[in-house]
Amino acid sequence: MTGAGLMVEDGPGSGREASHGFDFDVIGVGAGFAGLALIDAMRKAGRSVRVFDKASDVGGTWAWNRYPGAATDSESYYYCLSFSKEILSEWSWSSRYAGWEETQRYLRFVADRCDMWRDIQLETEIVEAAYLADRGGWRVRTRDGQSHTAKYLVSGMGMISEPLIPAIAGMDRFEGPLFHSARWPRDGLDYAGKRVAIIGSGATTVQMLPILAETAAEVTVFQRTPNYILPAMQKPMTPEWEREIKADYDAVLAKCRNHVFGMAFDSPVGRNAVDTPPEERERIFEENWTGSFRWVFETFDDLLVNPEANRLASEFIVRKMKERVKDPEIAEMLSPTFDDYPLFAKRPPLDHGYFEAFNRDNVHLVDINKREPLVEITETGIRTTEKLYAFDIIVLATGFKAYTGALEAFPIRGSTGETLAEKWRTSSASIMGVCVADFPNLFVVTGPQAPFANLPTSIEQNVKWIRACIEKMEREGLDVFEPRHEAEREWTAHTADIHRQTLMAEGYKVNSWMMGANREDKPPRELIYFGGANVYYDRLDQSAAADFPELDFRTLSERRQVG
Ligand code: NAP
Repeated sequence: MTGAGLMVEDGPGSGREASHGFDFDVIGVGAGFAGLALIDAMRKAGRSVRVFDKASDVGGTWAWNRYPGAATDSESYYYCLSFSKEILSEWSWSSRYAGWEETQRYLRFVADRCDMWRDIQLETEIVEAAYLADRGGWRVRTRDGQSHTAKYLVSGMGMISEPLIPAIAGMDRFEGPLFHSARWPRDGLDYAGKRVAIIGSGATTVQMLPILAETAAEVTVFQRTPNYILPAMQKPMTPEWEREIKADYDAVLAKCRNHVFGMAFDSPVGRNAVDTPPEERERIFEENWTGSFRWVFETFDDLLVNPEANRLASEFIVRKMKERVKDPEIAEMLSPTFDDYPLFAKRPPLDHGYFEAFNRDNVHLVDINKREPLVEITETGIRTTEKLYAFDIIVLATGFKAYTGALEAFPIRGSTGETLAEKWRTSSASIMGVCVADFPNLFVVTGPQAPFANLPTSIEQNVKWIRACIEKMEREGLDVFEPRHEAEREWTAHTADIHRQTLMAEGYKVNSWMMGANREDKPPRELIYFGGANVYYDRLDQSAAADFPELDFRTLSERRQVG
């Protein structure tokens, strides 16, 4: 695949030889949004770059999450890369939220227009990475036995990409297809007329169920914890709406840059739910019930920090959810309460007809928490404490090892010989989610302790910082950066301190992946910086402007100094 025309600056890095005797200046892992942003940035910095991905196409999360109904929960027009004004103006989104096919098509378009394919190597799985102390760089090994070296290694593997496969007895006995939702069969799966089980009821299931229910014979959802679910309220991108966005895309991007969750929302709004009289509060809740996470941010400013405000919001959402389900018993089963956990202690899904699906005769809900816990999977189905359910297909929509999972999935060995997986057994320490002590010349895009935000915004802010750091090193003839232990301790303590002050800290009660509490192999941790994505982006800018005080720089001939 070759480019249809170079629409963005094609700097001297493109196609150039690597310096320092490495194969490349920069190796990137992951050809999703992060990988493409990295290629653009490295070309502009004059560095050679190769991005590897085990998938057979670009797309990152969208190359894997191909289940029916998979779509973005950020609105399409700001779930995109901003580095090329031409691409922003040329690309047209079909609707408010883009499906996985459209998002992947968009990323292919970016790769085409910027002639990026020559810097991307697909179907190449990295199985090991090791820091080369004597050379100040990295060697990666691929599944087929090749090895490649680079001065800098950049992970763009994503923060929700490594599937979490639960240990359910008998899983290998099932005779039909059984797979994780992020491994939906590439060639499709004929589920029409079949009996389908979905284990899990998170954002993935909420998107998948309405589509499956249309043609499957039966779909049964095995639910452990109910969710606060917000309506997506999908709608087409009309020509007028598109014109309005494109007339001032800079304003859209500035909103994202300045928002606590990196979204193009009009918040803060300057009012609190607890200070607003009940009737007025109800009117504001109701008027803003127009779809997306906007509702949480464009109604009141205290919903995620004040327990009383959160209770009011949680109750409003549950009332709205129950209105849409005909069977009161099912409605009750689908509804969390504030006493169970507050809104956003688990990431709320957005729905496209989830509740209406439960009004169909062929959709069933099984409460495996209180009523009939899961016992085992058999050759023909799923056994709970109450009965054996027969199925043709079982989908494990059981989530991900968030933030650290992809970086722990194969050995990434730093300067002490320890791997990231070993380092993160009990913590998720990092510096701003982009660097890790004892892992010199390694960058992570949206690593642990970065914010959870509209991902393209965070990715581009991270890549901007990475580019500035590499440019400094190359300009000044530096070979190695060592992330300072003290800076890592400070960021980790700061992240934990802020985390404690938010209602998201309640996530440990309900297995929230946002605290890694869905994993059985580790204790819950502060995985996410909740001080505001905008504050975090400021912090990255301040770091770059102050010449990266979190890092010690040296040449190879200088002795290592540990911060
Ligand atoms: P999830 O939210 O972590 O949900 C996993 C589900 O599996 C939960 O209902 C969980 O129950 C259940 N589960 C896990 N282990 C289980 C076990 N051993 N037995 C029974 N049930 C088990 O995962 P997800 O739905 O894949 O979503 C993860 C995140 O990915 C989302 O929050 C979102 O950030 C992202 N995502 C984004 C989009 C989008 O933007 N369009 C779409 C899908 C996903 P418990 O709750 O009781 O643990």
